[in-house]
Amino acid sequence: MWIYKFGGASIKDADAVVRAGEIIKKGDVKQSLLVFSAMGKTTNALEQVCEACKTQREKGVELFNDVINDHLAVCEKLFEPDDAIFRTVKSLQNEFTDILQTKSTANFEYFYDRVVPAGELLSTLIVSRYLQATGCKNEWFDARELIKTDYNFTRAQVDQSKTQIQINAKLAPLLQQKNGPVVTQGFIAGADSLNPTTLGREGSDYSAALFAYFLNADSVTIWKDVPGVLNADPKYFDDTVLLKNISYREAVELAYYGASVIHPKTIQPLQEKNIPLYVKSFYQPDSEGSVINESTVDDDRVP
Ligand code: ASP
Ligand code: MG
Repeated sequence: MWIYKFGGASIKDADAVVRAGEIIKKGDVKQSLLVFSAMGKTTNALEQVCEACKTQREKGVELFNDVINDHLAVCEKLFEPDDAIFRTVKSLQNEFTDILQTKSTANFEYFYDRVVPAGELLSTLIVSRYLQATGCKNEWFDARELIKTDYNFTRAQVDQSKTQIQINAKLAPLLQQKNGPVVTQGFIAGADSLNPTTLGREGSDYSAALFAYFLNADSVTIWKDVPGVLNADPKYFDDTVLLKNISYREAVELAYYGASVIHPKTIQPLQEKNIPLYVKSFYQPDSEGSVINESTVDDDRVP
């Protein structure tokens, strides 16, 4: 049982969704969990929606409609005009417009966690439907029912025992049926059924690691727009070297010192269960990429 995680860049437009679909359909994914971020910069846009609602709700609704229209434009490229996805997106739009118009913004972090999950819900509904329409049967599942947290809105802490119970009861049986992969969201969680939470910006790598931990997965693969973990940020340096094998310990250090390729909290749940983390390029899915595991043999090779 393995986990694939696709970040915002790897599903940022219709072409990217098609590419992600190819990667997914190539693997033996019947029993795997597919974790997605929101498309592209959607979460930033939804943060603007929340900010606007503080003073001008109608402005917030207008900005939210822009987010919806961006997703509909992606759908128009991926689906026939009469596809069910258009109704699905419309009903999500109605549900979240109602939240934007009625929920108090007084506790802003609570409000944020009600609204911002729309990004991950939209991306996964679209990708799940796209996979279905192109021959890959799958199940969609709302991660807010699975990853259980405290009430620390916008940076919630995971409740291990509650999460384990939910995953054992709801997710593990679905995966065991081998009816196809399960599609779910990173970043979003829930304190209880009325209080969604989020795990902190860029938290979907961490979600993938949590799912791996609670499911005792064989591996996690994060699909990225870089060839793997590099020894420096390719945005600033030309002569970067791919780190093929990194130990958990070194990876934690890299993450804390600012390597944006992996979210710092991601490593610990994997290290605890000795689950390898592969970082691969979604542009070159067949190239090796990096693996983060317990081996320290290569740690001294590249500074
Ligand atoms: N969509 C969320 C964000 O942009 C989570 C993630 O991408 O990891 O922060
Ligand atoms: Mg992101």
